Amino acid sequence: MKRIVFATGNMGKMREIREILSDFDIEVVSMKEAGVFADVEENGSTFMENSFIKAEAIAKKCKESGYDDIVLADDSGLVVDALNGEPGIYSARYLGEDTSYTIKNNKILERMEGVPDAKRSARFVCAIACVMPDGRKLSTEATYEGIIGYEIRGLNGFGYDPIFYLPDRGCYSAELDPVLKNEISHRGKALRQMREILARELENV
Ligand code: IMP
Repeated sequence: MKRIVFATGNMGKMREIREILSDFDIEVVSMKEAGVFADVEENGSTFMENSFIKAEAIAKKCKESGYDDIVLADDSGLVVDALNGEPGIYSARYLGEDTSYTIKNNKILERMEGVPDAKRSARFVCAIACVMPDGRKLSTEATYEGIIGYEIRGLNGFGYDPIFYLPDRGCYSAELDPVLKNEISHRGKALRQMREILARELENV
């Protein structure tokens, strides 16, 4: 039996992907549940490259263990136009992996001081890579558009959500109901696009 292995150790992401793929007649497991592990260096220069680095490393391990799995991985981050795309692919590592998001968010607000509304555009990007059992590669990418606000606000979400303002909704991303955030966010959109691609693929398995 084939499985879908999601190359993440993040249980929140696992919950999301399980929910989105819940009507597939195929087991969806984390790397840990699949019993595979790979310590990969995310040294690509784009979100997509980094998601494939993770997916291919895990796919190799699955193959070595004798499994014909479909392997998925994602990579995401915040791109701020006025900061030349920073923190971008370094979003998790920005100012150091262990630095709190209060510090990271305050630093971005400080660097944005004096930048007018029209130039505060930013987006979250999520790339999803898929390696099929026959080695074929599939991918999706989606964005979640907003601007960098002027303060830290909201208790929902995580990471940079409290400084990410949604002009159309008049609130910060961290103030959104989590179900609504999943509907409009980069990760939710990219995962649902991948779901459509996999649905067509699985008809042929
Ligand atoms: P990764 O894809 O788990 O490596 O996440 C990369 C980093 O991007 C996270 O650690 C956050 O800093 C940031 N990030 C990605 N998605 C979101 C989001 O939806 N809200 C806030 N921050 C995010």
